[in-house]
Amino acid sequence: MQKIGWGLIGASTIAHDYVIPAIQVQPHCQAKGVFSRSIDRGKSYAKDNGLPQAYESIDALLADDAVDAVYISTTNEKHKAQTLAAAAAGKHVLCEKPLALSLSDSIEMVAACKQAGVILGTNHHLRNAATHRKLRDLIKKGVIGQVQYARVFHAVFLPPHLQTWRLNNPDAGGGVVLDITVHDADTLRFVLDAEVVEVTAMTAAQGMAGNTLADGVMGVMRFDNGVLAQFHDSFTVANAPTGLEIHGSEGSLFAENVMTQQPVGDIYLQTASGRQHIPIEDPEDLYTHALRCFNSAIRGEGKPFATGDDGVKSLAIALAVRDAAATGQRITVQYQS
Ligand code: NDP
Repeated sequence: MQKIGWGLIGASTIAHDYVIPAIQVQPHCQAKGVFSRSIDRGKSYAKDNGLPQAYESIDALLADDAVDAVYISTTNEKHKAQTLAAAAAGKHVLCEKPLALSLSDSIEMVAACKQAGVILGTNHHLRNAATHRKLRDLIKKGVIGQVQYARVFHAVFLPPHLQTWRLNNPDAGGGVVLDITVHDADTLRFVLDAEVVEVTAMTAAQGMAGNTLADGVMGVMRFDNGVLAQFHDSFTVANAPTGLEIHGSEGSLFAENVMTQQPVGDIYLQTASGRQHIPIEDPEDLYTHALRCFNSAIRGEGKPFATGDDGVKSLAIALAVRDAAATGQRITVQYQS
């Protein structure tokens, strides 16, 4: 089987920590090189990550016939132009979240990839977790009856080396909502298999972010099946576990330590008969699962685990949350620009 060649656009932390290892662990794909705005940084990043080369320009990367697909993990304002360039060059695109800074841009990205006949995926890692996949299965099997409520605990501490553009650069799509709430939106859509209709929210500034950006948010999403979901996202909470609770007419699911990049976490089912631990059979690394599915999609088998359309929807919800916080109003989510 011919190996799928990956080109990396962005010498980022996420690529270093998770996505390059997820590419390298798979037998049928290979990382071909990286583009950074600084060729010196690109070269040292390539060396540190075992990549064969650093490209001088995005054009050089996109002109490389050995590159079949690109992984875009630059700051958020660059995702759109880089996706359009990759699509025009006939490369498949796995793009980081949020897909773009506006709904219309994200829709344009999906359309451009479709027109070019290339695959677009969104790197929403959480739905790739065995825990979240198990929650979705359990709900579909009806183990908690009719689902009524969900609660997301996603208040974490942004480590010092990431306390950069996320906190001080609105033009790069910083702030907690586009960074974390966008993941909650995707995870809830996936686990509940339902769509968000409207949202309310309040943001907070607990001292980590600059004046214009929020470093915390709490709010509620209403789904089209009547479920209400509460969410709490933060960059400043250093000592709280993450989690997801789903409450139904016949039982509740408690997923502990699951809003994370690691393949960890526990699920408990509580019903009238008591509380039971739900085993997770294969806690595959989240990013490895995402890359495996994306590679299969390139080979014509299935779709990326989170598609471009999923990225449009999670962005639409996050933008609605931001509007709700800014206006103090309940906001109907707009999925079309
Ligand atoms: P980083 O800040 O690590 O990287 C973003 C850009 O900043 C890089 O492309 C790089 O530019 C530049 N940069 C990074 N480190 C340095 C450095 N030491 N010196 C100089 N420049 C540097 O961002 P993240 O990896 O945290 O996020 C990148 C994207 O991935 C974002 O879109 C984010 O939302 C997303 N993300 C997704 C996650 C997920 O699990 N799905 C988790 C974390 C982030 P250049 O390429 O030009 O060198």
